[in-house]
Amino acid sequence: MEIKKGIAVSSGVVVCRAWLLSDDELHIDRREIAPSEVPAERKRLLKAVAASSDDLRDLRDKTTRSLGKETGAIFDYHLGLLNDQHLLDDFAGRIENQHCSAEYAVRRTLRDFSKAFFDQPDPLFKDRVKDVYDLERRLLIKLMGKGRMRLAGVKAPMVLVAKDLTPSQTANLDKNIVRAIAIEAGGQTSHTAIIANSMGIPAVVGVEDLVRDVSSGDLWIVNGYSGVVIVNPDEATVSEHRLYEQRQMRFETRLDQMRDLPAVTRDGTPIELLGNIEFPSEVDNALHKGAQGIGLYRTEFLYLASDKEPTEEDHYNAYASVAEKLKGKPLIIRTLDLGADKFWPHGEKAIEDNPFLGCRSIRLCLANHRIFKVQLRAILRASVLGDVRIMFPMISSPMELKQAHMLLKDAMDECYDLGAPFRRDIPVGIMIEVPAAALMANVLAREVNFFSIGTNDLIQYTLAVDRGNQRVAPLFTAAHPAVLSLLRDVMRISRKRKISTSICGEMGGDPQFTIFLVGLGLRSLSITPHNIPKIKQVLRNITIKDAEKIARRVMSFEQPQQILNFLNDETRKVLPDIFSEEPVPLLTPAGAAAGG
Ligand code: PEP
Ligand code: MG
Repeated sequence: MEIKKGIAVSSGVVVCRAWLLSDDELHIDRREIAPSEVPAERKRLLKAVAASSDDLRDLRDKTTRSLGKETGAIFDYHLGLLNDQHLLDDFAGRIENQHCSAEYAVRRTLRDFSKAFFDQPDPLFKDRVKDVYDLERRLLIKLMGKGRMRLAGVKAPMVLVAKDLTPSQTANLDKNIVRAIAIEAGGQTSHTAIIANSMGIPAVVGVEDLVRDVSSGDLWIVNGYSGVVIVNPDEATVSEHRLYEQRQMRFETRLDQMRDLPAVTRDGTPIELLGNIEFPSEVDNALHKGAQGIGLYRTEFLYLASDKEPTEEDHYNAYASVAEKLKGKPLIIRTLDLGADKFWPHGEKAIEDNPFLGCRSIRLCLANHRIFKVQLRAILRASVLGDVRIMFPMISSPMELKQAHMLLKDAMDECYDLGAPFRRDIPVGIMIEVPAAALMANVLAREVNFFSIGTNDLIQYTLAVDRGNQRVAPLFTAAHPAVLSLLRDVMRISRKRKISTSICGEMGGDPQFTIFLVGLGLRSLSITPHNIPKIKQVLRNITIKDAEKIARRVMSFEQPQQILNFLNDETRKVLPDIFSEEPVPLLTPAGAAAGG
């Protein structure tokens, strides 16, 4: 049994067999064989070893001829390793004693081997790990031939384990098959994490050395509350977690009962609770969780989930279906936020050194009028079907906003010429997610009807911490006084200018920040639907006066950790009961960095 720790990004506890999505998607199942098949399996293995040895000898000779003896000797090392009698005995022993396939025996034995190398203090051994991987790959390809399996071919429920997953890979997962996700890369607000959360797939990201010693078919526990991943748990641990799973379901059902209760503070102030979605199909769940509308529709997923470029009709159909389901409740459609980590795999991808600082989001749209206007016309046409509003992402200057307005005006003229009905007075807002926008909120407020604060990017750009990089994940925190000062200032301006302001980053769905945000003056939150019941629970237990006092106190601290400890204590004071029923605490442990 091995316990690994990462960052919990989507709650839930799952006990299931693992499936490793390796870089080249070479996939090994733990296939059991009958005792009568053991001799044939051993023969297959020896054949693969012999064929790999032949290849390695060829490679050594060719490399020696072209690059010299020293470089050629690398393959001598591989040859020596491959024909090491202990290793061959280990392969054979696994097949005989565990009745597993040759592929599984190779993967398991060599993963243990590489782990032993990796654990040596001498860096020379660590370097050798790559050689072991190389050898493993060579043998597996010989054994499997063309029979590589791809993710799409997997039919049994699994924990998906990978070094990294792109947002588009995640968006295309079948949640009936993928019961949980565990990946090496990523931080609290990486888009992969956000999508896993929206899809209700328990997930842990940022787990160091996760795939190094993994075999598909091993039993795993993924605990999306605590961020713990357990590989090959013993029976007692499995039973304990199965109990967690059941308690979790009871807990979620109890929270769901809050759906029809109003989202008001204890002293009667209503707080609007909206949902964030990526796909039209998520609206039903958002409404089921008690969303009063959709405050952030991340429309770029229309691209990410499709292999052909969406047409205006595709856009329109998606927006119309959401608007119709909402029956007059607000629907804030964010225009395309493509680029950075969300690029369309079928389109041209410009290579940029710093894509998060590059041609992303509104910049990409302003550079591609055709794509932008297709979307704007579709939104305008859907605007007559409900309370539809437009939101521009990543605005960083008044000039950008002006250009976006001009293109919207062009799209209106085009709709008019085509005779398509639309609302000329459609409300237009922007995301405040770049420090420049927060600092110029006073100017930008003149041109828009509303603001929505995107804390995921605002934290990333304010603290210079890549939101998807697990190496700097501990530095990514909403509780940094610099971030909180920007929030406070934007709230002050929005009050002065009478601009309605919401928050749509992950910070809004984290219960430990609820009291603070209400204390700052926020009266609208747009969050992952899954979090709506617990945020509502917090809201119903606080008063505005207390929240304001707490917010003032928070602003007097200088250290994120002080702020987290204080908010943790205050939240526990108002809600001792809800947290005690959780299988593991809902709140981020006071010692951990909080998400955005
Ligand atoms: C944000 O940046 O906070 C946000 C909500 O947008 P996204 O996560 O899609 O970048
Ligand atoms: Mg953003």
